[in-house]
Amino acid sequence: MRPPPSSQLPPSSEAIDTPIPESPPSVPPTSTLRGIPGSPGVAFGPAMIIGDTRAAYTRRHISAAHVDAELARVAKAVGEAQAGLREVSRRMASGSTPDQSAILDAYIAMLTDPMLHERVERKIRSERKCAEWAVAATSHEIVSLFRQNTTEHDAYVTERRHDIEFVCDRLLRALMGEPSTLVPQLDRPTVIIARDLSPADTAGMVKEPVIAIVTEVGTRTSHTAIMARALEIPAVVGTVDALHSIRGGDIVIVDGLRGEVIVNPSPAVLDAARMRAARHLAFGRRLLVSRHERSVTSCGEPISLKANVELPAEAILALDHGAEGIGLYRTEFLYIDRISQPDEQEQYELYSAVVEAVSPRSVTLRTFDIGGDKYANSFQLPNETNPALGLRAVRLALSQPDVFLTQLRAMVRASAHGHLRIMIPMIASIDELRDVRNLLNRAIREVKEEGLPCADHIPLGMMIEVPSAALMADVFAREAEFFSLGTNDLIQYTLAIDRTNRLLAPLASAFHPAIVRMIQSCTLAAKRNDIPISMCGAMASDPLAAVLSVGLGLRDLSMEAAAIPEIKETMRRVSLAECEAIAEAALLCDSADAVEDLVAKRFAPRLYDLLSGEGGDLDIFV
Ligand code: PEP
Ligand code: MG
Repeated sequence: MRPPPSSQLPPSSEAIDTPIPESPPSVPPTSTLRGIPGSPGVAFGPAMIIGDTRAAYTRRHISAAHVDAELARVAKAVGEAQAGLREVSRRMASGSTPDQSAILDAYIAMLTDPMLHERVERKIRSERKCAEWAVAATSHEIVSLFRQNTTEHDAYVTERRHDIEFVCDRLLRALMGEPSTLVPQLDRPTVIIARDLSPADTAGMVKEPVIAIVTEVGTRTSHTAIMARALEIPAVVGTVDALHSIRGGDIVIVDGLRGEVIVNPSPAVLDAARMRAARHLAFGRRLLVSRHERSVTSCGEPISLKANVELPAEAILALDHGAEGIGLYRTEFLYIDRISQPDEQEQYELYSAVVEAVSPRSVTLRTFDIGGDKYANSFQLPNETNPALGLRAVRLALSQPDVFLTQLRAMVRASAHGHLRIMIPMIASIDELRDVRNLLNRAIREVKEEGLPCADHIPLGMMIEVPSAALMADVFAREAEFFSLGTNDLIQYTLAIDRTNRLLAPLASAFHPAIVRMIQSCTLAAKRNDIPISMCGAMASDPLAAVLSVGLGLRDLSMEAAAIPEIKETMRRVSLAECEAIAEAALLCDSADAVEDLVAKRFAPRLYDLLSGEGGDLDIFV
């Protein structure tokens, strides 16, 4: 479970007080959908379906008599899409740069582009396709034309392709009566139902009264789930058929503890959910009471608990949850929801604000990890067959040294404000680490030559999240100044399981013996070379997996802020000797189930309340 939000947290904390609209006269049937617990908590309210327009548009043939009406629908949709973009432009006006406004103007103009309209009209008149189908097919056609005539690395053409897709998407949304942004402005607490949400969509929810999220795709370690946990919004991800089973306005219970979505519940089921939500919140509040106490095992061994942060505002939230620093600052979120990349000054101001807010505790800034499932509009990524194995993270950074140097310089300048470490994602070979070191040295040299202040020493460390790095940890430990185990990706790449694939999620186990062995060999390599090692993957925030990790040698865990009080409580209830004994036994197991059973049998009885997320005193609210 995750503790409850405090008074400063987003509106999701009000879930249990949400007024439920009266039921319609004919009571719709109740159904229960199963998914994966993405973010803990229980909330309920009216559903809003957020469409994946390109996947879900209508394909209907029309009769000759309807051609003019379909063309009129397109014309109306153009007007609405343009009005929507003008509204975005108006809302952005104060904060936008000239190039952002120019891009919006270009989109508004493209909506009346003759080539686009000629093709759409032909599809409606001659092929008798409905307007949605005609627009989607035209988008596909133009994008394919661009693809045929260019290489994937032609940045200009890739950009134009995205423009066409964007403009057609707006048009489709207008035709389908959907709001023009994925997460619209909401006027009441709402449960968002979507096929998938990009990190930008989820980040955009900060300002909206979103009380829960349900997605069809994703797993606990995919980015929608990570963001939902960061924002403390209950979420169920990987929910089969959510879009088909839930209609806009349906009352939905989202149980992020059990991974269950109940559609149109009966009053009795709603009452039970209300009670579960209350127990979860009350239990979390109890855990929060001791959040600022030292984090130690029952025998007094200190276990440092730090926070993973995606958004700058979370730094304060992290301290409020008892974090001893920021163990992972995912800087890619700076790049996602925008058209142009952040410049050095903007990054510097942001990083130094975070470093100052957390000082004297340390902040580990990870250089941007873009690519894979982390798509950023401000980067033109090639169209790859296997993006998770493609131009991602440090590879992308080294392929764009100017962009990377800008980020490193901003980090170097921010180091003057407190204790800052720089961490590189997805290192797979020593050359990458050396190339980054050279670039960092250049950034430091330049900053100093310009007379700007920076720290005397900035530790440069690496994520261990690629099997080659784990296998060669002893070699990397001679040059990296610290390690952090990124188990989300380490599991993905070691077990060859896409971290976003809900069907394979049960196989992507942190208890797999291969993962257990890798963690142990990395902690040993770090120890022998006298460098710090931590864990920042989601494994650190699972009570049983955290116990095993401590047994395998970790003393430093970083996780979503909300999980810290729970893991602190977990640590208080176990001794180091017990953790080490279980790790030793786990290293002899031959399967993930065997390891998990072993750890659960030993520790689940005493961690039951933490694992269920509802506390031990189940009758306190009855
Ligand atoms: C990881 O892979 O475990 C990790 C912490 O990085 P991310 O989830 O951002 O890929
Ligand atoms: Mg990772």
